[in-house]
Parts: sequence; C-alpha cells; structure tokens
Amino acid sequence: MWSLPWQTRKRAKEVGNDGKVRDCEGIGLVMAEYTLLINAAAPEESEPRNRFGGRPLVPKNSKVGWPNCKSCNLPMQFIGQLMVAAHSNETQNLCLMFMCDRDPGVCETWMPDGGANQVILVPVDEDMVLLEPPRADGCLRNITYGATLADASGEDIYTAMLNYVEKSNSTFDNILGNMFGTPEWIQSDETPHCNKCKKLMRAVAVLNEGPDPMESVNFGTGEAYLFDCACGDGKFLWQC
Ligand SMILES: [Zn+2]
Ligand SMILES: [Zn+2]
Repeated sequence: MWSLPWQTRKRAKEVGNDGKVRDCEGIGLVMAEYTLLINAAAPEESEPRNRFGGRPLVPKNSKVGWPNCKSCNLPMQFIGQLMVAAHSNETQNLCLMFMCDRDPGVCETWMPDGGANQVILVPVDEDMVLLEPPRADGCLRNITYGATLADASGEDIYTAMLNYVEKSNSTFDNILGNMFGTPEWIQSDETPHCNKCKKLMRAVAVLNEGPDPMESVNFGTGEAYLFDCACGDGKFLWQC
C-alpha cells in the first residue's frame, strides 16, 4: 500500500545567482523515465519470475539454506523474488528477499546489516527447485502475487505513478514499487556498501508493503530499498 505516496515526492532544485539552492517547480523540470512494478496474477511457483509470497526458487544443486534471524534466531519469512539482470547483463539472477516477521521493533528488520533481513542472489538456470521452509510458523506469507514491469515518466516518481494510474485506469495500490534508477529516498540516502568487495551497491528496486493492507510486509508503512553487487551479494533496508 502507498499510504502517503506524496512522501516520496521531491522537488527539482536549482542554484541561483546568489548561490542559494531553491525549488524550481514548474521551471525547466526534467521528465524522468521509471520502470514500475505492477501487481499481477501469481505466476507458477516453479517459474523463475517476479513473485511475492510462495516459496523461493533456487538452482537444483545450490547450497542456499533458509536464513535465520540473527536477533531472535528463528527462521525469517520469505517476502518474494525479483528477476534482475546480472551486472554483466548476460545472465539473470533471482533476488530472494527474506525478513524476520517475529518481533517487530526488537529484530531490526529495517537495517541493511542488522541480521533480521537477508537478500540472496541465485543465478537463473534451467534446473531450479523450490526451497522448502523450515518447520516453523510464519516462514511463508499468506498471499502470493506476481509483478509485471511498466514504463512511466514524470518529473519524479510520484508524478510518474500518477501518470501511470491515469493512463492505465489503474490504482496506486497496484503499484508495488519501481526498479533500477536512482531511488527517491523517504529519509536520507542510505545506499549501502557491499560487505564482500566494499563497493557501493547497485539500486535494484524500491518496494512498498504490497497491494493488500491485511497481508502487507511490515516496512513501517514506508518503503524497502533493494540492492545488489557485481560480486553476487545483495542487501535491503527500509525507511518510513
Ligand atoms: Zn527476528
Ligand atoms: Zn560486492
């Protein structure tokens, strides 16, 4: 749900002759292109596609295990998976997102390195299997939905979303987030560095809590920011 989509709205700035930065709304605003994630019917669980909910898909012989929260030691919840072109652009990865759903406020799910969320990148290959969750409640979400991509343009993400909603006769609730480009942060820029290679990570997606307020992921009614790295690491964090 986009509870307050205008929170993400940023005004274009310009520097005047006096050296002061000021808003320049309406004057020379540059239209930007965005790739929106749009709510769609859930794909087959066995297909490597964008999906929220269900079980994570991993290569057959991968050693990926279900992550535990480092704070409460219980298994995390699988939020969903996104298809992301590898940095070389020749292959696709599935970006698997997990977050603790046990003790909001105690487990620091909003932190990129708090141990209460985890992003695992796996290469998409022909032989993929579903990773079974541990025998514990809350590892899987109660709903499953897919996400398609749609182009939209606007002077910022909010106007791009508004333009999309008007053009496609859709609603804001159907917009699940946007992919690539520069994130428009709710708070300050928190683009993380990779723990492995120490480089600044690539922004992959901005996600909201989902289309169904009764079954939303808890981002504090804010947004999550997803990143990957050429070396194969991934991270996410959320702000509200
Ligand atoms: Zn936890
Ligand atoms: Zn790296």
